[in-house]
Amino acid sequence: MSNLEIHPPTRLCGGRSDVSAHPVRELLSPREAQIGSSTVVRRLLPNLGRRMVGAWCFVDHYGPDDIADEPGMRVPPHPHTGLQTVSWLHAGEVLHRDSIGSESTIRPRELGLMTAGRAIAHAEQSTQSHPRFLHGAQLWVALPDAHRDVTPAFEHHADLPVVTASGLTATVILGELDHTASPGTTYSPLVGADLTIAEGTNVRLPVNPDFEYAVLTMSGATEVDGVRLDPGSMLYLGCGRTELPLRALSDSGLLLLGGEPFEEKIVMWWNFVGRSQEDIAQARSEWMTGTRFGEVKGYDGSPLPAPELPPVPLKARGRVR
Ligand code: MN
Repeated sequence: MSNLEIHPPTRLCGGRSDVSAHPVRELLSPREAQIGSSTVVRRLLPNLGRRMVGAWCFVDHYGPDDIADEPGMRVPPHPHTGLQTVSWLHAGEVLHRDSIGSESTIRPRELGLMTAGRAIAHAEQSTQSHPRFLHGAQLWVALPDAHRDVTPAFEHHADLPVVTASGLTATVILGELDHTASPGTTYSPLVGADLTIAEGTNVRLPVNPDFEYAVLTMSGATEVDGVRLDPGSMLYLGCGRTELPLRALSDSGLLLLGGEPFEEKIVMWWNFVGRSQEDIAQARSEWMTGTRFGEVKGYDGSPLPAPELPPVPLKARGRVR
């Protein structure tokens, strides 16, 4: 998925200063954004005052949308650097194509994991004869400096491990939850998990006190540590917890995102994560000149042009591991 803002700001993210070392309950409101011609998303990260949760640096929630008589998602070829993208569906089908030759249809609760590393381009669209509803999330994970130039890769994991408790099914999307690990490749300690909770369930989910966490509601209503969450909102929880109390007010679907606080400062602009304005400017220029990123074959339409760079340069500062 692409950031389609016409004038995307350059964002300086990461570092310890925003991280809460102790448990907090900080409710984040979504901002509506348009992706492709027909899909409206609720953007939860980056958010005002909250830019990352562990290495998670971008979170869009979309749908459920009735696309029976529409083409559905159509995101033309666009580039990425320095990050991984996670495509996660609760309904619908998304066809992924990229510049390293991958072509894969992602279905609900299957992991589509693209590691951009030094450079990749991809396109995403609803399949031609698609299911009626489209509902999902698009998530980005920032790569640590030591790995941000890795060889681009795409993984499709259709069968993910599941952790169950009474009334709760947790699918481990990425990283590790309760000693159960996703097969998806990671480059920093983190977790992404999909939680299905039956109405009336009251559970305490074991979590890692060294991680910071946030929970996003995709459907239903749940109390997370006593705070009611409805679809499209996210609760930032800070670090320092060993368990997370969850109470489902109706049948609910949640995403749990967490990770070791990302201590490096990153520069994020459009679809690129770098460490300096120069990194970003170079990636933009190489996308526009058709070098570095390769070609996405099979998409019926033109690649996305990059927006104009903002005039004010920004440098990533702070601790670099
Ligand atoms: Mn994308």
